[in-house]
Amino acid sequence: MSAGPKSRAWMERAERVIPGGVSSPVRAYRAVGGTPLVFRSASGAEIEDVDGRRYIDFVNSWGPLILGHAHPEVREAIVAAVGRGTTFGAPGETEIELAERIVSWYPGLEQVRFVSSGTEATMSAIRVARGATKRDKIVKFAGCYHGHADHLLVSAGSGLVTFGEPSSAGVPAAFSRETLVLPLDDIDAFTKLLRERGAEIAAVIIEPVPANNGLLLQRAEFLTALRRETERAGTLLIFDEVISGFRLAKGGAAEVLGITPDLATFGKVIGGGLPVGAFGGRRDVMRHLAPEGAVYQAGTLSGNAVAMAAGLATLRVLEREQAWSKLEETGRALEAALAPVLLEAPYPIAFVRAGSLFWLSLQAGAPPRAAEGIEAAAAARYTPLFHSLLDHGVAMAPSAYEVGFLSLAHTPAHLARFATALAAAFRAPAMAAPA
Ligand code: PMP
Repeated sequence: MSAGPKSRAWMERAERVIPGGVSSPVRAYRAVGGTPLVFRSASGAEIEDVDGRRYIDFVNSWGPLILGHAHPEVREAIVAAVGRGTTFGAPGETEIELAERIVSWYPGLEQVRFVSSGTEATMSAIRVARGATKRDKIVKFAGCYHGHADHLLVSAGSGLVTFGEPSSAGVPAAFSRETLVLPLDDIDAFTKLLRERGAEIAAVIIEPVPANNGLLLQRAEFLTALRRETERAGTLLIFDEVISGFRLAKGGAAEVLGITPDLATFGKVIGGGLPVGAFGGRRDVMRHLAPEGAVYQAGTLSGNAVAMAAGLATLRVLEREQAWSKLEETGRALEAALAPVLLEAPYPIAFVRAGSLFWLSLQAGAPPRAAEGIEAAAAARYTPLFHSLLDHGVAMAPSAYEVGFLSLAHTPAHLARFATALAAAFRAPAMAAPA
């Protein structure tokens, strides 16, 4: 079943005027087949498509909606801000208040600059790291996604420690050679690289809780080694907390892990559903940024009043509600609700979770810690599961490699319905992906 007639009709129109019919590629269902649903409205944990079908939403716009869709306080803050003028192109009160809050919540952060997406945040953090260290090379890890800036659209080449190769057409090979790609979870490879070539490396960037290639939970020893070796080499450690920031804890993954990076990048939650990103760090690094320093970075709508109001309202609710312990409880409740169902699955499944982020690893054995550990068969198993869940009113991401997001709006009833839908999916005859 999947997409209804109105979704299909809208997607036909969309494909004529938007490449692939979508404004961001993973929305196009290429990984799972079928026609994407077109949505009309959403509220709390539920989303409704143009055919009037309602779904429990575990995509949550890919992470920003930690309070759920259309939270009343966020809505009110946005409307009030619009009434005062949407953007001033000059400093504003809300922007300064949001910056103060982010700086006081996140370990080691002294200054932060706002941008309008996670991509801009990581791109700019790397530029300031290069400017501050006067080095050009950066290190990233296979399986981590940091947005679509040229030097980050790079995958491992052949060989152990490799120069990156462009993972997208349109990225010059010369750019990708400035990025070294390492496997996650390999302390020896990392230590060797930093000891041999650390003097060339400006920064090491990692999602401390990698959540863009499944949920690849890292060993504490690995992350500690990153901190130790970067410090020793004078290389800056960048935590990309675009997903984990203000979601896993008040101080993000840095607080949970007890590791303070030199720079951190944010997005998603800090914009409360509007386009916001940010990057920040110690003052001695951030002072290299224009206008104080020589590293140029700017944005017409950076820190605009509406986006800042949505972000500030979101963080206020998170703090007042002590949301992080509630989200952990919801995560635990989901784990408990799904456990008996997973035992009935036709193949082994591991439920992987970090707070309100979850992922179903559809293969035998311990959940993988590196991208190389995900079997192709696991991704193939996801397709019928995805479509069956959709038919039972549960919206998961249209890719086996994407995580699920819980929000404060997910109730025990939603979790129970998810468990029932999953049980039904396992009982259904294996469904081929619709054309
Ligand atoms: N970093 C991480 C860890 C992300 O998950 C994402 C987006 N999913 C980005 C950066 C890029 O953010 P944006 O899509 O807002 O450009």
